[in-house]
Formats: sequence, structure tokens, C-alpha cells
Amino acid sequence: MRDQIVNSRFFKQACYIDGRWIKSNEDWIDVDNPANGDIIGRVPKFSAVQTSQAISAAAQALPAWRATSAAERSALLRCWAELMLQHADALAALMTLEQGKPLVEAKAEIVYAASYFTWFAEEAKRAYGETIPAVKPGQHIVTIKQGVGVCAAITPWNFPTSMITRKAGAALAAGCTIIVKPASATPFSALALAVLAEEAGIPSGVFNVITGNASAIAATFTASAVVTKISFTGSTKIGSQLMANAAQHIQKISLELGGNAPFIVFDDASIDKAVAGAMAAKFRNTGQTCVCVNRFLVQRAVEPEFRKKLAIAMAELILGDGFDEGVNQSALINRAAVEKVNDHINDAVAQGGQLILGGVSCPQQGGNYIEPTLIANGHSAMSVCCEETFGPLAVIIPFDKESEAIAMANDTPLGLAAYFYSDNIHRCWRVAEQLEAGMVGINESIISNASAPFGGVKSSGLGREGSKYGLDEYMEVKYLCFGS
Ligand code: NAP
Repeated sequence: MRDQIVNSRFFKQACYIDGRWIKSNEDWIDVDNPANGDIIGRVPKFSAVQTSQAISAAAQALPAWRATSAAERSALLRCWAELMLQHADALAALMTLEQGKPLVEAKAEIVYAASYFTWFAEEAKRAYGETIPAVKPGQHIVTIKQGVGVCAAITPWNFPTSMITRKAGAALAAGCTIIVKPASATPFSALALAVLAEEAGIPSGVFNVITGNASAIAATFTASAVVTKISFTGSTKIGSQLMANAAQHIQKISLELGGNAPFIVFDDASIDKAVAGAMAAKFRNTGQTCVCVNRFLVQRAVEPEFRKKLAIAMAELILGDGFDEGVNQSALINRAAVEKVNDHINDAVAQGGQLILGGVSCPQQGGNYIEPTLIANGHSAMSVCCEETFGPLAVIIPFDKESEAIAMANDTPLGLAAYFYSDNIHRCWRVAEQLEAGMVGINESIISNASAPFGGVKSSGLGREGSKYGLDEYMEVKYLCFGS
């Protein structure tokens, strides 16, 4: 399988700038397979010079691209999406090789990623302005929307393709050009997307991918007076630094940052549905999503039943190489990720947590494996309650009253996703309104799709991706005042 992937035309060990594939003369970044540590290839370790070239290319391409009609941009985005779907198997295999996730999930990510191009292909045609009643006779007030210009995107490794398409889809639909800097752990999925951009006929310089030294590339983006917008998905720490640096030229900024999602199970919930939801919201991508549950808050009366059923469901998870049939839990992205989960397990157990299942990292398998782990008797002083775990650890914290659960759920500086299960409609509205999160799943745990606004409150970020709001992030409202 590996040979087939690295010999395919999608496997590019070069950056895509101004419609050309550029290799490094000096430094490279090795990319490994998290399932076994094998090096699968390398990409250029570019820095400020090449980033400036990419910015110039995006700036040169901008006038012609923004002059295209919305219908033309829409057709190109649709074509790009269709190519992704046509080659979904090859793109998914490449993703599993560099990111580790089970092949079924990688394929689902390609379909999900393509849906952002399809969505924004439609939204491109609906970037409507307004007419506003004038304040003086004979005057006319009108607004139009225009793309912000040259954009830069920095993306993480957990969703190597979709975190790019939901930025680039919106940017290109709005008439902007973009430079993407993907995570160094998963650059090949981004470069494969560039192969298809070329095939779809996206003009040179409109979509560029640069790999390399993250801080030097980011510093070049923020120091540039040409880049008008930065969109970042990743950790809150780096997002905060970028926001400070973007202040130099008052660049617009969108931030999709970390989460610490609570999942509340009330005593009036269907426990079977809650367990099914818990499995999906906790163990997708082996716990490595920003909307993964970090804390299970369970009302005391139903805690034993929920715990027992969750343990049974977790015992059926299959850990292994993402390419193996039936595997649904894979290696984590690197050793540091395994160590963080281990630290959270050890801390929880040291603070009185009861280990029900798992708790073992498996270095003997050669990759970054850790068993799905369940801990009961959790409490809010544990590290797992205060920090994003990003791995397959589920901790159950019992509570008595609704107000207590809401207070615990909101007791974090982060506010990305939150979930709760209840069959009481009054409670559903009451709790949903009080949770401090950008997204709330109510008796639902799969909440992300191209039609819905994705984003956080508090330190989880700024702005929204996907939906009609996602396009606005890449557009300016211009007010025109016509005199009599
Ligand atoms: P990260 O360390 O912040 O990395 C994300 C991106 O930032 C990578 O491309 C990385 O490049 C780059 N980067 C690293 N240092 C930088 C610097 N000094 N300046 C500018 N860019 C820099 O985050 P991660 O650990 O890879 O990703 C996981 C985090 O992303 C989690 O917190 C997760 O919750 C969050 N996330 C949020 C969302 C959302 O939509 N809210 C979605 C997915 C993930 P290198 O790879 O080259 O270091």
C-alpha cells in the first residue's frame, strides 16, 4: 500500500507556488507514519524568502481572480470538489499514511472536505449587498460585498484536508487568493489538494501551498502589508500569538482554536442514545478533534448505567493500524500526544479516579498507540477537566443538580463545542442557552457540516467557518452613497 501511495501522482515532495512545483535546495522536513514511525517522504522546509514569493504570487493573481464572475468561481470550485470525490480513495489512503486515522474516517474526511467547496460554490453566487433607505431626498445608500484580498491560512494535522477546504473554499468563492501553510506532520494531503487545484483549472497563484518553518512563515504573513487576512486553526497558544502579530497591519483574523467540550447526561435522557452519542463524540479520530468530549458530566441517578454501557461499548473498539480492516482507533499523531494522555490518566488516578478500562500505552506496537481508557469518579480539579486531552480518554464526573452541571461545563476559558442529552424540551432550551460554547449538540453528537457555522467563544476563537457566515469572513462590506 505504501509504495502505491508514494508512487501516485498525488504524492508531491515539493511546494505549490504560483502554479509551479518547487523543491528545496537545502532544508527538508521528514514526514512519518504515526502507526509505525517509518519516514514516508519529505517536504521543503521553506522560510521567509519563499513565503514572500508566495505572497507576491497571490497578490499578482488577485486582480484577474477577483474580476471573474461568481459563476466562474463557482464552476471551478465545483470541479475541484468533483475531482476530490473522484479520487477519494487515493486521497484517503495518503491521509491515513501520514495522519494515521482509520481509512474509513479518512475517506469520510475527503467527502466532508469536498462539501465545503460545493457549499461555497453556491454561496459565491449569493454574496448579496443591500439597499438602505436614504436619510436625504435624492440620496441612495447601497452596500456591496467584496473579497478582502490576499489571505493566508495556517492549518493543523488532525483534519489535514478539511481544515484547508473550509478556508480556501470561502476565500476563493469571495474572490480572494490564498497561501496555505499546512501542519508539518501532514503536508502531503495539502499538496495533493494542490494537484487537483491545478487539474480543476484554478489559475496560477490563486491557491498556493508552502511547507516549512512555521514561525518564520507566520512572521512573514503578519509582517506583510499585502496579506489582508489570516485564518488559523490550531492551538490557543499559537492563535493568541498570531493575533498579537496580526495587529501590526490590522490584518483581519479568524481563529479556530482548542476546546474542552463537556458532555452532560441528565437523568431524563435516553441512556442508550447518550452512550451512542458519547462514542461518536469522544472517539472520532481517536479523540483528536477540537470538538471531542473532554469531560462526561453525568447525573448521579443514571451514572452507574451510563458508565456500564459506555464501558461495554468502549471494550468493542479496535485499536490498530488505520489501514487494517475493522480498526476504529489508531495511533496518535506523535509520542508527545501519547504522553499527554498518559499524564492525564496518571493525574486522574492519583486524584482518586477509578480506572475502569484501558490505561495502557502500547509502545510495543511500534507506533503512537494508547488504549481507549475510561475513568470514573472524576472531579474538576483533575488535569483532564482543565486542559484539552486530545486522545482516547473518557472521564466521568457525577453531578446532582442541573445548575451544578452548567457551572462545571462553563468552568473553563474555552468554549468551542458542548453536548447534552435530555428528553425534556424545557430543559433543552434552558441548558442550551446557558452553555458558554459556540456550538451545542442537543441529543446529537455529530455537529459539524458545511451548512452550519463552526466556531468558538471565549478562548476557543474568533469568527465562524462554513455556513453563510463563513463567506463573510473573507468579504468586506462597502457602503456606497449616491448623491442626488
Ligand atoms: P498547533 O501546534 O497550534 O499547530 C497548528 C498549526 O500552527 C500548524 O500548521 C503548525 O505548524 C503551526 N504553528 C506552529 N507553531 C507556530 C508559530 N509559532 N506560529 C504560527 N504557526 C505555528 O496545533 P496542533 O497541536 O497541531 O493542532 C491541534 C490543536 O488544533 C488543538 O488545540 C485543536 O483543538 C485545535 N483545532 C481546532 C479546530 C477548530 O476548528 N477550532 C479544528 C482542529 C484543531 P507545524 O506543524 O509546522 O508546527
